[in-house]
Amino acid sequence: MTPRPAVFFDRDGVVNLSPGAGYVLSWNDFHFSPGLIAALRLCKTRGYATILVTSQQGVGKGLMTQADLDQIHDQMQRALTTEHAAFDAIYACTCLSTDPDCTCRKPSPEMIHRAAAEHHLDLTRSLLVGDYDRDIQMAIHAGLPTTIRILADDHPATVPATHTLPGTDTLASLLDTLLP
Ligand SMILES: [Mg+2]
Repeated sequence: MTPRPAVFFDRDGVVNLSPGAGYVLSWNDFHFSPGLIAALRLCKTRGYATILVTSQQGVGKGLMTQADLDQIHDQMQRALTTEHAAFDAIYACTCLSTDPDCTCRKPSPEMIHRAAAEHHLDLTRSLLVGDYDRDIQMAIHAGLPTTIRILADDHPATVPATHTLPGTDTLASLLDTLLP
């Protein structure tokens, strides 16, 4: 079986509207970003796996449980399934940013490497969409050739990405030009 290319998506600020300085603690706080579902559907129709890679240290901080996070992701997947746009896999680092034993937190490429091994992905043809520097750095560390940054109001863009968009509403049209 030939390895598949993938598009990796950061969650907060990309898949769903940024919760700002806080956390999405329940499904009620989760709102899909404009145009995101169309972008996911496009990836699928072009034969790309879609993989969510997210940092959720609200679990590590005890603000929510792993079960709470899993429930949000179950609801998200259910909503996306009705749109034929569900993620093929979800990877979440729930460690505290201060945890010295954590190996998965961005900009570590660990979540991308795990996804590649578990889903037979071709990273040399894969992309990442993120809004923070550590998303872009993770992609660079994993050797992805293409990165797309969604500009965030609350975060300076210092690590250069291959492409930069002011918002998610034009993501599907950019992917349409990038994905063969
Ligand atoms: Mg983000």
